[in-house]
Amino acid sequence: MFRLSALPASFGDCLWIEYGDGDHPNVILVDAGPSLPKALIAKLKALASRGGHLELVVVTHVDKDHIGGMLTLLEKDFYGVKVRDFWFNGFRHLSELEAFGEKQGERLTALLLTKGVAWNAVVENAGLLVTPETCPTFVLPGGAKITLLSPDRPQLERLKTSWIKVCGEADLYADVAAVTEYFGMEGMDAFGAAGALDVPTLAAQKFEEDYAEANGSSIAFIVEYDGRRLLLGADAYPSRLTKSLSQVWGDPPYRFDLVKVPHHGSESNLSKEFVEAIDCERYLFSSNGAYFKHPSQPAVARVVHYGKEPELIFNYRTSFSEIWDNAALKSLYKYTTVYGDEDGASVDI
Ligand SMILES: [Zn+2]
Repeated sequence: MFRLSALPASFGDCLWIEYGDGDHPNVILVDAGPSLPKALIAKLKALASRGGHLELVVVTHVDKDHIGGMLTLLEKDFYGVKVRDFWFNGFRHLSELEAFGEKQGERLTALLLTKGVAWNAVVENAGLLVTPETCPTFVLPGGAKITLLSPDRPQLERLKTSWIKVCGEADLYADVAAVTEYFGMEGMDAFGAAGALDVPTLAAQKFEEDYAEANGSSIAFIVEYDGRRLLLGADAYPSRLTKSLSQVWGDPPYRFDLVKVPHHGSESNLSKEFVEAIDCERYLFSSNGAYFKHPSQPAVARVVHYGKEPELIFNYRTSFSEIWDNAALKSLYKYTTVYGDEDGASVDI
């Protein structure tokens, strides 16, 4: 089996990936939403009860919609589930010159150290990043192959100067659950049921790439298993992803069986060039639209317009995703839609 579940994690990501034997699959966890999703707790308890472990846990970057729930998870010792390796680029990884032991106030680092969790063990606690020479690959127990696509050294260096600010915004010092409660449902009904969307015009809207340092620092990667390919875009920049893909495979197109689009379907992270470089029929959008109103119309329009008769998978049915569930639009632009339920969206890859 090879399956991705986008759990309901409000406006954030919480991705549960299983591969291997269907009865006892290997598991990778990527991010844990702004606060710990109930569906994740249930999965971890089930995993603990069958004596399973997590092959890999990844915090893609420090924004609160990815890291918040992970802080609680570390405090709860993963509900008894052992973690083989934990990938996270901490402050110490942002610069090659940073001394390992420099004291940092942010909570994830403190938790990783006090809990004794294996941290970036695969690279002996160095940073996880791509270089102009290589996009590193790693093979996990059970045979899943990971190829790193983001971040690069300049992106980590850029984050360094704003680390304190970003960690403050990520509420690393405060109660993340309170932040989620505050922002949780904002904007959910800002858009009513839209009429027919003008897809070509939306798709052609001027693209201005994301420049947020934390997003640029995202750990994005490919997971390959049993001849199938999954792209996990985190909140990375599309230009970094296509640049890395060209390093790995040369000229486009790049074949995938499923793409978790970068940055929840923000119009600044889905470019025409990115969609045209990808050969894939299924795109996953993970957000309930709260706070940032994701996925944005131009971003989805680009997937529809420049993609290949795609299936759009949304882990939430909201006013931002539901507008694409329109028979006339689907017939005109040749795409289909799938919506998650209270457990999110699960896709066999
Ligand atoms: Zn995000």
